[in-house]
Amino acid sequence: MSTKDYLEKDYYKALGVSKTAKPAEIKAAYRKLARKYHPDANKGDASAEERFKEISEAYSVLSDEKRRKEYDEARSLFGGGFRVPTGQRPGQGGFGGFDLGDIFGGQEGSGGLGDLFGGVFNRGRTTAQNRARRGADVETETTLTFGDAIDGTTVALRLTGEGPCPTCHGTGAKAGTVPRMCPSCQGTGQSSRNLGTFGISEPCKECRGRGLVVDDPCPACTGSGRAMSSRTIQARIPAGVADGQRIKLAGKGAPGERGGPAGDLYVRVHVKPHPVFGRSGANLTVNVPVSFAELTLGAEVKVPSHRGAPVTVRIPPGTPNGRTFMVRGKGVRRKDGTTGNMLVTVDVMVPTDLNSKARSAIEELREATAGQDPREELLERAKEA
Ligand SMILES: [Zn+2]
Ligand SMILES: [Zn+2]
Repeated sequence: MSTKDYLEKDYYKALGVSKTAKPAEIKAAYRKLARKYHPDANKGDASAEERFKEISEAYSVLSDEKRRKEYDEARSLFGGGFRVPTGQRPGQGGFGGFDLGDIFGGQEGSGGLGDLFGGVFNRGRTTAQNRARRGADVETETTLTFGDAIDGTTVALRLTGEGPCPTCHGTGAKAGTVPRMCPSCQGTGQSSRNLGTFGISEPCKECRGRGLVVDDPCPACTGSGRAMSSRTIQARIPAGVADGQRIKLAGKGAPGERGGPAGDLYVRVHVKPHPVFGRSGANLTVNVPVSFAELTLGAEVKVPSHRGAPVTVRIPPGTPNGRTFMVRGKGVRRKDGTTGNMLVTVDVMVPTDLNSKARSAIEELREATAGQDPREELLERAKEA
């Protein structure tokens, strides 16, 4: 016989006596029924045999003063009035964060407390507690190198979250003990106060809305039934993520309860800047220093590319400073498989340490172009307004 038997079987009914029956009354009822259903008197009658076992079990409990008391207590505690706090779905974590779902869900098949409550809750009471529940969505962040963000990578993410205490399986009670129904609120988790003409309902102070009190708290969680736990998962970050982007990894969040699906994991990605390249969507950007002579006369310049050999960009004669050239297919791979481009912007370098030959060449250039005033047009246009 287990606690579950106590909750599921009505021994008084089995013997046909009232709950207040005196021991002599119980004994008489048992004798009468035992004679009637005894296997010797009902050879081959399986239902009589079943009934005989039932009667014997009932009598073995009700005839023993101590066991009868235990039976009565178990049934009055959990058999009838045990209720989940109203207006608070289990699992929402309110009222001090206690989660009744953890008790009912965390221990299935272990024959412990889950069994005890399971017996009560599986018998046609509200099904909200028993329904599979989806795990919570979890949010975390990670920092990637510039290259990993472009190419995609797998990162180890350490996720920390609150869950049932592993020591007491969320009951909050020390091993070998179980919480008892809160005597103050009769297990409802709510207490009512009358304020003049109307009453208000608030979380029970005795049990902080939990409906249960723990006499011997679990040393690991000091009775709260909750514990922080962490796990590490390997998360695949797709190619082409940008700094600040939030990636959803379906099913990588908190595990579901009672067979429910896991929640989703959201990863906020930070990307370290690259010393040379920048990003503009799927395009890579790079500034390339060029000389005044290269822009004026035209040139073929070598430009670095991300993860590959340098590429050659042809600069036509007379290219203005700051012009951007596009190198096709040298950017970031998009989701659809296409690739962005590399945008090369020329940036003229002004020499500061000229040798004498270069200096005289530039001086010659100045003399040769003395008739061209580069600000002539500017001054003209300024007068127009
Ligand atoms: Zn604990
Ligand atoms: Zn209470």
